[in-house]
Amino acid sequence: MPAFFVTGTDTDAGKSTITAGLLRAFARAGVPARAIKPVQTGCTETADGLEAPDVALWRSAGGQGEALFMYRVPCSPHLAAGMEGAELDASVVAEECRSRMNQPGVTLFEGAGGLYVPLNERESMLDLMRSLRIPGLLVVANRLGCINHALLSLDALEMAGLSVAGMVLCRTVPSAHTDAGTTAEAEALILGDNAVRLAEEGKRRGIPLLADIPYMENASPAHDAFWDALADMLEPAARALAAFSPARGIDADLLAFDREHLWHPYTSAMRPLPVREVTGASGARLFLADGTSLVDGMSSWWCTVHGYGNGRLVRALQKQAARLSHVMFGGLTHEPAVELGRRLLKVLPASLEHIFFADSGSVAVEAAMKMAVQFRRSAGQEKKTRFVALRGAYHGDTLGAMSLCDPVTGMHTLFSGVLAGQLFVERPTCRFDEPYRPESFAPAERLLREHAQEVTAVVVEPVVQGAGGMWFYHPEYLRDLRRLCDELDILLIADEIATGFGRTGRLFACEWAGIAPDIMCVGKALTGGMMTLSAVAASRRVAEVISGADAAHGGGVFMHGPTFMANPLACAVACASLDELLASPWQACVEHIQEKLEAGLAPCRNVPGVADVRVLGAIGVVETKEPVNVEAWQDFFVSRGVWIRPFGRAVYVMPPFVASDGELDALTRAVCEAVLSASRNGGTPVLEQRRESC
Ligand SMILES: *Cc1c(COP(=O)(O)O)cnc(C)c1O
Repeated sequence: MPAFFVTGTDTDAGKSTITAGLLRAFARAGVPARAIKPVQTGCTETADGLEAPDVALWRSAGGQGEALFMYRVPCSPHLAAGMEGAELDASVVAEECRSRMNQPGVTLFEGAGGLYVPLNERESMLDLMRSLRIPGLLVVANRLGCINHALLSLDALEMAGLSVAGMVLCRTVPSAHTDAGTTAEAEALILGDNAVRLAEEGKRRGIPLLADIPYMENASPAHDAFWDALADMLEPAARALAAFSPARGIDADLLAFDREHLWHPYTSAMRPLPVREVTGASGARLFLADGTSLVDGMSSWWCTVHGYGNGRLVRALQKQAARLSHVMFGGLTHEPAVELGRRLLKVLPASLEHIFFADSGSVAVEAAMKMAVQFRRSAGQEKKTRFVALRGAYHGDTLGAMSLCDPVTGMHTLFSGVLAGQLFVERPTCRFDEPYRPESFAPAERLLREHAQEVTAVVVEPVVQGAGGMWFYHPEYLRDLRRLCDELDILLIADEIATGFGRTGRLFACEWAGIAPDIMCVGKALTGGMMTLSAVAASRRVAEVISGADAAHGGGVFMHGPTFMANPLACAVACASLDELLASPWQACVEHIQEKLEAGLAPCRNVPGVADVRVLGAIGVVETKEPVNVEAWQDFFVSRGVWIRPFGRAVYVMPPFVASDGELDALTRAVCEAVLSASRNGGTPVLEQRRESC
């Protein structure tokens, strides 16, 4: 049943009175309704404990309700709680509110003061509203200046991603009483115009002005007549609210259109796998159209390290969108690109000095490959044009990047004759968590020595091979590789698109080995998952050689330039994401996640059907002996309230760094249950069963 958050343009806008009037209007219409005051200050001591003034007011109107967090001093929640040695937390208050939402009829939650009234040092009423994800009802104090207050409040609500069910205009003081300098006539004109203007602006935004309540002369809330008169005026508003349905529920048309016309990754257009509609996301949770929420174990494929809806990132995007959303990068530049470049140079290996911004990971890999080829052309080394990659690698889906992916699990057979023939070394066999075996580098050494004359660069995912099998190898391998590349004049390209920005427990996985590549690609978590952006960083030597070429060898320019190169929105968000990361205790968070994943996934080790369990940083992998049936495993995970999408023989989680202990437990418990159920049911977890316990 519908729930609304009653908020005001101001303190004393009339929220409690309007809430009380609405309760009475609902009661008269036979709609069950109640009000909840999540945080009430100014409570008084009575024989039965604390009494909440707003609850008392609702009762005088014949309504019912309760206050949840109650404090004595009549002031802002953060102060009142602080004075009693308490600290409010939006998600805790929201949880308490949510437990009251499953009742029949309408539930009205009444805020304290306006939107930006502080709840604690970090959060405001607006954060509580965002946690609750219910539509707002804005009570506008009808006075001089109220259009400004109302529109600012609507902007803030809309920018917070909240819907607004409507506005109620409310006059709480007698005419010509407080608005100094206005005559009664002028004031009547102003108050009337406020209603007209707000109704018009509301129409533009799809937010109705539900009622215009005048000051009620000679009336007292102690009398039924007052409440009856108010309920009369609020009756249309109550009707509109009772009929309001913000949650669409599952939209069959939407899913049907998707099925018929939208191609999802690695799927058939004719017989696609089922998809689920996401309507929002916050922190480590995804919200589905059917009202359920899932703990995100994938970080949307390595990206959303700060979780979803991070305030700093959202604000950066909004501010930049209003300033300059895009401009070509040819011949023009802008602050977000320069700022991002500055930030990246501070955290990348010191030898990388030149940055090329591209628009996705695959394009970054293409650009890095082109750099490596141009580098040789410029130096007159015409024969060195081939690349060496590792088996088990994944570097992207464009043709060049694809040519570097594992030739078996990649798409080489399908695209044979089209892909460039690269050279492949067996996957580094020495595990991350075992002592280094120098002989594990021998195959790479053999191949590189044999082909040194024709190889321009080796491309590797440092330490963690991602989508090619979720394999963690020993950092010493990279040190050997760096040494040999130097000896043989081969460039080392590090693809840190998945590993960059803390995922492995180091800011970049190259740091595990203490090496610097000649070219490095970053992407994915670069923007904290808000939007697509990638960067290729090159050493001074690479940049110098390419730039020094004569007309016959490239003319000294790097031949690449995507339309959306260095998009200001993406750069601004990436700056905010780096700031957010570096200001956070990310290393401690990742270490903590590693401990939680190790403990949580350990029971899988003994389950038949499991080949290996490994954890590094905020990545946990359970490798099965047989490939998984993605759809069946996915259904099982969704039934357990988590979003985990396995592939091949890897059932893996890489949660946002902000995931709580409870959320991490939900992820590992679901994985344990799934592998246990699969082991008992021929390799596929079975849904209908009662919960398996680990
Ligand atoms: C995802 C990924 C890419 C490709 O990035 P896109 O943005 O999907 O094009 C390249 N390399 C690695 C290691 C990746 O994980």
